[in-house]
Amino acid sequence: MMLRALPCALFALFAAGVSAATITTVPEAAVKQAIALREQALTDRQAYTLLESLTTEVGPRLAGGVNDQKARDWTVAKFKALGFDKVWTEPVTYPKWVRRSESASLVAPFAQQLAVTALGYSTATPKGGITAPIVFFDSLDALKAANSDDVKGKIVFVSARMRAHKDGHDYGIGSSVRSRGPAIAAKLGAAAFVLRSAGTDSHRLPHTGVTQWDPDGKRIPAAAVSNPDADLIEAAVRRGQPVQMKLQLDCGVEGDYTGANVIGEITGSEKPDEVVVMGGHLDSWDLGTGAIDDGAGVTIGMAAGALIGHLPQAPKRTIRVIAFANEEAGLYGGKAYAAAHRNEVAQHVLGSESDFGSDRIWRLNASVKPEALPAIDAMMQVLAPLGVERGSGRANGGPDLSPMHAEGMAALSLTNDGTRYFDYHHTADDTFDKVDPEQLAQIVAVYVSWAYMAAEADGDFGSAPGAFKRDGGDE
Ligand code: ZN
Ligand code: ZN
Repeated sequence: MMLRALPCALFALFAAGVSAATITTVPEAAVKQAIALREQALTDRQAYTLLESLTTEVGPRLAGGVNDQKARDWTVAKFKALGFDKVWTEPVTYPKWVRRSESASLVAPFAQQLAVTALGYSTATPKGGITAPIVFFDSLDALKAANSDDVKGKIVFVSARMRAHKDGHDYGIGSSVRSRGPAIAAKLGAAAFVLRSAGTDSHRLPHTGVTQWDPDGKRIPAAAVSNPDADLIEAAVRRGQPVQMKLQLDCGVEGDYTGANVIGEITGSEKPDEVVVMGGHLDSWDLGTGAIDDGAGVTIGMAAGALIGHLPQAPKRTIRVIAFANEEAGLYGGKAYAAAHRNEVAQHVLGSESDFGSDRIWRLNASVKPEALPAIDAMMQVLAPLGVERGSGRANGGPDLSPMHAEGMAALSLTNDGTRYFDYHHTADDTFDKVDPEQLAQIVAVYVSWAYMAAEADGDFGSAPGAFKRDGGDE
């Protein structure tokens, strides 16, 4: 099976003067074992069972919130129960943001309650709320070009619409309005900022998510309304009707909090210091129970690691699964991990985090050294029957591993079908019932296959300090 995959990549390498000794391959026995693991994963329901447990026994996992410690305890206990032989935590500190209450309504052209949610790191409105006319923008660029005389004292409303795509690329539009819009509006003197939710659904459920303030810049109340509410506001504005909104947010930062990344390992039999890394982020937003974002990623890594751990013989390299702290408010867990482990980047052989929902994976992109492409081809032979295509783009390993990739860790990016992801993402609808057990099992099959083959590969994937400096990230 593997041999059929090799000639093309090998021929190109030989033509480029690369000697066979430096080429990374996957032994035939490891390919066979990966196929067996893949088939086992497709019928295994471990990730699904774990995800049901996490979302019903722990619940929502706002970073630093009431369930933070409980989630870490759950993860430690599950790693141990699943047979991970080394389990530990590493501290992660960040400003703790708290949501207390939120409401919004139209005052003009008529009174109407709006479905609203505060953005992470939003400030509170004054007692009694803010009632002000809205000033409408259809894009972030339009807001950037605005004159502060038109914005001062008003509620800035940005209505950039996202469409559903398999690769979810419109999130670039929605997330940039959410993360940058409030700081720009604050600089222009706005009283508050409201956006059309960064989501693709037509339900009256707003999508939360973090916003980024300039370090010394002004901070204002910032929120999202649901898509149908944004449609109503937009239609009223287009008719020339004056639109006034009342916004009441009680939320804000309550000092610093120290949580932790939770790490479990299946120790390698020959090269225990070399690690293959996967995982997800343990925190979630608080509106739903964080099933698809990102309980799925954590349990996929756990289930894939457990399948490898239950083999009679451990793979040569160590399998490390990381449940990252506080991805949502700004990659705090991923950044802390990279800060703690940057000196070991060469030992991080290959990494990929799952953080794009629980629907099937359809594409693999790789950022590895050219000499390791034959090993990626071998992985593709095992993954192609699962419906995974080889992408032509680059990889950053997912949000929480992107800081390690920036340090020089070789990475894969495995793209889930994101068509329905942004219907639920960061809303009250991110719940366990949205998870399809068969699609979740397909993802575990993908992860267990590449991770096992990376752990058994003859040769490395190019991880070294600064190795992928010019390699920007996902395509
Ligand atoms: Zn996520
Ligand atoms: Zn998220």
